[in-house]
Amino acid sequence: MYVDTFIQSRQKYQYLLKANYFRLDKETRFRKLIHIDMDAFYASVEQLDNPELRGKPIAVGGSADRGVVAAASYEARRFNVHSALASKIAKRRCPDLIFIRPRFDRYKEVSAIIMNIFKSYTDLVEPLSLDEAYLDVTYNKKQCKSAIKIAMLIREEIRTKIGLTASAGVSFNKFLAKTASDIHKPDGLSVILPEQAIPFIKQLPIDKFHGIGKVTAGRMRQLGIFSGAELMKQEKSFLMKHFGKQGKHFHEIVHGNDHREVKPDRLRKSIGTEETFDKDILESEKMMQHLYEMVEKVTMNMKRLERSGKTVNVKFKFSDFTQIVRSKTLNEYTVSKLAFWEAVEEIMLKVELNEKSVRLLGVSISNLDKREEVIAKGQLTLDF
Ligand SMILES: [Mg+2]
Repeated sequence: MYVDTFIQSRQKYQYLLKANYFRLDKETRFRKLIHIDMDAFYASVEQLDNPELRGKPIAVGGSADRGVVAAASYEARRFNVHSALASKIAKRRCPDLIFIRPRFDRYKEVSAIIMNIFKSYTDLVEPLSLDEAYLDVTYNKKQCKSAIKIAMLIREEIRTKIGLTASAGVSFNKFLAKTASDIHKPDGLSVILPEQAIPFIKQLPIDKFHGIGKVTAGRMRQLGIFSGAELMKQEKSFLMKHFGKQGKHFHEIVHGNDHREVKPDRLRKSIGTEETFDKDILESEKMMQHLYEMVEKVTMNMKRLERSGKTVNVKFKFSDFTQIVRSKTLNEYTVSKLAFWEAVEEIMLKVELNEKSVRLLGVSISNLDKREEVIAKGQLTLDF
């Protein structure tokens, strides 16, 4: 239903540009934000550098029994192979899957080119990872009044300078821009104009909301909420009762209100991951299994970001929505999976869960330092 009003063809872009939509004038109340996300970034870089891999199902990540897929090419995604999937399962789903060892230095190099392209348009660039960023182009260095046009130019520049495709979402707040960039992925551009926001949100299935994961979506469906239209009808107090602090955020975004600013060079305070379970967990062995996978994922991200850390935090959210965080600070900065895992084990030995079942577990590393500085100081434990 909504796809029609979105802009897919060049002709339609031209129409919009001519129609003066989404242009900046003095009285404008709307910011112009773009969310850009490279398509299957690590896998695409591998296929770009190695033509033999093009058109083939590839997974970047470790192929070992405990390995995890960091990125999958679109050919692999057809077999339901996706990031964060255990390599073992990935191989079962796609027997011809080719595993490639990640080359983070190369991804960082390509990322730097992409970020420089963004910065040639605006200084308000907030990277979310190596291949994804929010841009605020309300006022920009090219004096261009159309955010749609800027998104087109950036996508074109990425294609010609690097040879990769990116998807973009254009709208007036972060939530809508991010949601839009996913609509026509890969190699797509989607726009949600201010007057389209409410109709768009109303028809959006609940699991397509950025920030509403699989488990939360399931709980919403149990409450009779299947799309934005139903979510919109709920009182804030009702959503907060069922979803805690997140409920307040859901109430805001569903009404098109998201005032989060684009913050350039966001300072990272921690690196972490968390998982909400379909079924609450009571057995500590099961928790340990999940925690091990999380430690693996977090360590991988830390290596990619070239950060080390000292403090290990484990978050437990219980079925009654109360939560606790337990931490352990190591003597030195590290990126060692083993050191983090030992800290998690220690936390698990000490923590008192009082037989309560857990609906969410999280692992994060805080107290971060720049890896380079730490190496210079000679304090870094490396995994061998
Ligand atoms: Mg991406």
